[in-house]
Amino acid sequence: MAAAADLAEIDRRYSFHPFTALADHERDGPSMVITGGKGSTLTDASGRDYIDAMAGLWCVNVGYGRTELADAMRDQAAQLSYCHAFSSMSSDKPALLAEKLIGMAPVPMSKVFFGNSGSDANDTQVKLVWYYNNARGKPGKKKIIARQRGYHGVTVMSGGMTGLPGLHAGFDLPLPFVKHVMAPRKLWEGHGLSDAEFVAKLVDDLEQTIAREGADTIGAMIAEPLMGAGGVLAPPPGYYPAIQAVLRRHDILLIADEVICGFGRLGDMFGTTTMGMEPDLITVAKGLTSAYFPLSACIVSEKVWRVIADEGSKAYGAFGHGYTYSSHPVGAAAALANLQLIEEEQMLGKVRSTGAHLQAKLREAFADHPLVGEVRGQALIGAVEFVKSKDGGPVGFDPALKVAPRIVKGALARGVIGRALPNADSVAFSPPFIITEAEVEKAVGAFRDAADEVLGELRRDGQF
Ligand code: PMP
Repeated sequence: MAAAADLAEIDRRYSFHPFTALADHERDGPSMVITGGKGSTLTDASGRDYIDAMAGLWCVNVGYGRTELADAMRDQAAQLSYCHAFSSMSSDKPALLAEKLIGMAPVPMSKVFFGNSGSDANDTQVKLVWYYNNARGKPGKKKIIARQRGYHGVTVMSGGMTGLPGLHAGFDLPLPFVKHVMAPRKLWEGHGLSDAEFVAKLVDDLEQTIAREGADTIGAMIAEPLMGAGGVLAPPPGYYPAIQAVLRRHDILLIADEVICGFGRLGDMFGTTTMGMEPDLITVAKGLTSAYFPLSACIVSEKVWRVIADEGSKAYGAFGHGYTYSSHPVGAAAALANLQLIEEEQMLGKVRSTGAHLQAKLREAFADHPLVGEVRGQALIGAVEFVKSKDGGPVGFDPALKVAPRIVKGALARGVIGRALPNADSVAFSPPFIITEAEVEKAVGAFRDAADEVLGELRRDGQF
């Protein structure tokens, strides 16, 4: 294997990295080159270990290096490495996985359509909404309501539904038929309001958007049960029942984007259950295979399926959508092994108990820190937001100061990987379900020390 410095140089020269400051990368190369992973720990090419407090990108839920998944994928690749699912062709593992997902779905569901990523699955959901409304003779109902700060992917459609300006800049997004409503971000949008008042404000914003656009032009609303990349934002209690009453009144479908929450992150198998959602369509990815294989799924209700299968077939013939890798047998084998591990090792219980520890430690370390505006999260997902001041309403830091990215860098120097969230001066924590309490303490401690260091620098430079 090439030496660490050689690998970094090769990467610097040839790799085009996603979500990366490209000019900086081309000049400086990668911050680290990872070559191994076990449990919650990643190891770089020079042999240095890091606690991965983000489980990759909120996805390696059962931890790195699980031989049960590696074996299942190897066995499947040897047995049947690929089989497409077009034109009624079927293979065993995807069929069994579809049955499993329908059996475990948080609300009654009918059918499963497989894709490769959260982004393409959310694109599929929009196509399903359009097809459904065309087939039932309501071709005007096409617009999609998404939320500011929501994250739904980066393809042309899903990137538009994502409500983060940094993901639109330079890409001519969002497309005009996506409409964003207010984020359930209490610190800012709900400052000084009770939960009930904040719910009323959010519902009013939705109602006004629908009134402005016309209900007969709107097909669906998409929402993460708890927003992940937009800041780890849980809705105020009562939010979804209130939102859903409005959607139902206007014949607007609800898509639950469970890409982060699905399969246990909040301590229930689905965030839909935790948050009291009643979706017509559910998107899953990431935790479906704990990222051992790129696999996503659209889980479809009978209400939508019946129209697509009956009216749609009559109007349009065979369903004209699908990917080469839809229903990939190796992905399905990985998912089945992953779900078996989650059940056999009772990982939801681990998420609840280690999650309670994470939340307590985050609050202990950060609640009274001078840089901190809010500590948020539940179970095994959390975030700390940094603000210049919060009394009398939050005032953010100048983004040029890069407060959260500097703290993430400081934690990395202390052997812990976290994540600064785009368009939110926050750091996120979303560790593997199997992280130990000692590792949680080390991770939170590293972030606290890094925050103290940045606080010292800001004071020294007269910026705080
Ligand atoms: N939805 C949510 C809620 C996500 O967090 C993400 C990824 N962070 C996506 C969709 C997009 O998934 P992918 O990156 O696999 O396309």
